[in-house]
Amino acid sequence: MICAAFSALLCLAARARAAETPVLSETTPPPEVQALDGFQGADYQVSQVRSFVVSNSSPSLKTLALYLGVEVGSPWLNGEDFSPLLALELPKALAVFSQCGLGFSRVHLLELRFNAAGLTRLADYASSSPYDPPFEFGLLQDLPPAARPMVVLLRQGYAESFNADAISNLTPVYGASIAKIGGLSFVPSDTDVGYDASVFAPGSYSLFAHEMAHVLGNLEHVTLSVPNIMNAGDGDTPRAAGRMMSTDMTPQQCAAVLSYPG
Ligand SMILES: [Zn+2]
Repeated sequence: MICAAFSALLCLAARARAAETPVLSETTPPPEVQALDGFQGADYQVSQVRSFVVSNSSPSLKTLALYLGVEVGSPWLNGEDFSPLLALELPKALAVFSQCGLGFSRVHLLELRFNAAGLTRLADYASSSPYDPPFEFGLLQDLPPAARPMVVLLRQGYAESFNADAISNLTPVYGASIAKIGGLSFVPSDTDVGYDASVFAPGSYSLFAHEMAHVLGNLEHVTLSVPNIMNAGDGDTPRAAGRMMSTDMTPQQCAAVLSYPG
């Protein structure tokens, strides 16, 4: 375990969860990631890029790289380091997929600095229905297609995901350029990060992983008699359904996430 170059908090979290918990250590971003440094979208700028090697003792059937867009100023960041929130939730989310044999070789962190117009769009969106057209696509559709799968960590808003089916359905509205996003999820910091505060899931539940599972497996919510990652609803999840929310994945869900292209 390499802790010196990285957050002591993250290393502590890793030790506590023993062998199955991924450990991240910082490395030099590869050229394709370095090229994103300073990238300007219509309403945001990539203000810094960082890359991390993920080591995990569990053998993987498949490995992917994960791109994390993090809103500068959100509780997900703490100056130059991951915040305790991200140090806890990121390894926890990655560990969920190790049960399927899906590993993450790298995590690339893109710090996103939104301008006033971009923040207004995000705020407007957060105050409307989570099923309205996603303004976030306008913010992010110009990132290079290699930057996927991507999770965007925000200050506020709804947790939501746009998997292959959703992107296909929205293409007539937003144009073919959104297809290159190839899967996008948004996780805010202000509501139910662990889904352990306001709904009836156990504290071990990971909303972060749930949103990723939507994208990676092109999965929707289900109602099964066994607890699993996709047995979930929104904030009004009934108590009975909440008891079925867990970080377990069924064999079918594992097969689905392993089929993510890449
Ligand atoms: Zn969901």
